[in-house]
Amino acid sequence: MSILRKDPITGRWVILIEERRRSRRHFPHQYREHHEEKECPFCEGKEHLTPPEILAFRDKNTKPNTPGWRLRVVPDKSPILRVESELDSQGSGMYDTMNGLGAHEIVIENNIHNAAFDTMSVKMIKDIFLAYQQRITDLAKDIRLKYMLIIKNFGAGAGAVMPFHHPHSHLVAYPFIPHVPKAECDGAKIYWKYHNRCIYCDMVAQELNNPNERIIYSNEDFVMLAPFASRFPYEMWIIPLKHSHIFSADDTLFESLALTFKEFIIRMNAVLSIPPYNLVIHSAPLSDEFAEFYHWHIEIRPRINLAAGFEWGSGTYINAIFPETAAKELREVEIKSDDIY
Ligand SMILES: [Zn+2]
Ligand SMILES: [Zn+2]
Ligand SMILES: [Zn+2]
Repeated sequence: MSILRKDPITGRWVILIEERRRSRRHFPHQYREHHEEKECPFCEGKEHLTPPEILAFRDKNTKPNTPGWRLRVVPDKSPILRVESELDSQGSGMYDTMNGLGAHEIVIENNIHNAAFDTMSVKMIKDIFLAYQQRITDLAKDIRLKYMLIIKNFGAGAGAVMPFHHPHSHLVAYPFIPHVPKAECDGAKIYWKYHNRCIYCDMVAQELNNPNERIIYSNEDFVMLAPFASRFPYEMWIIPLKHSHIFSADDTLFESLALTFKEFIIRMNAVLSIPPYNLVIHSAPLSDEFAEFYHWHIEIRPRINLAAGFEWGSGTYINAIFPETAAKELREVEIKSDDIY
């Protein structure tokens, strides 16, 4: 059970969860016990250890929640938000609260326990995007849901709460627009009002004019770059060249996006020796009002430094690696076609 509370000063919603993994609390500085690989609930044959599947790509003639799948989507066992019957919004003096209505699903990306984007085939990665698309389309039918976020946390240093390495990502549907995408929407809307152009389209055009500055990689459909005001060392953005506000709108791009994922993981692992990382897909909120000025994209943050109190206290990031330096190192990684296919 979770409760949403809104900070009346900044307008930022916070999700408070009482029961989340209360039986055994883990703090990042604590020793995390070693889990046997055989205990992994995301492996084939352990389907009974997860809630029943919502979606699976599986062999014909296999039954739900049995082996024979290559990808499964299940509800999170300890969801941060869950599908409730009613959205219950209340005021208490100056404070606003809501119940934790929403959805929290786990995409088990592969049946291979220690697979990662560099070892998965392009087809396997494409399947992950197709699963996201199907789940987003389904959840979007619930008009109480306002925003969907796809997040991947890889490695203990990236805040992955599961103590095992089975490749998975989270899909969270919120009953409000979270602070970070909202700030992006607001900024993009102001730019569009003044210029009548999408700020992301303009940014991509300008960056491609100087391919030796912050561009890491590009193909016919996507550009990968180190952002001008990079907040974290080796922060990377993947932006589609064709304007679109919704990630799930065009699945003809998924093969090309899968290729781009192979590029990012191989380059990042080569430069940073397989770091923990966070990856997020920023798509527009579930409303057409964002179609003209918002442009979906992916942000990747390798977790190689510890955020200090400066950032927490001020919201201003301090980054010791210039994006131009990061882009040069990542761009110069030599990739053979064997690495990709
Ligand atoms: Zn596993
Ligand atoms: Zn655009
Ligand atoms: Zn973003």
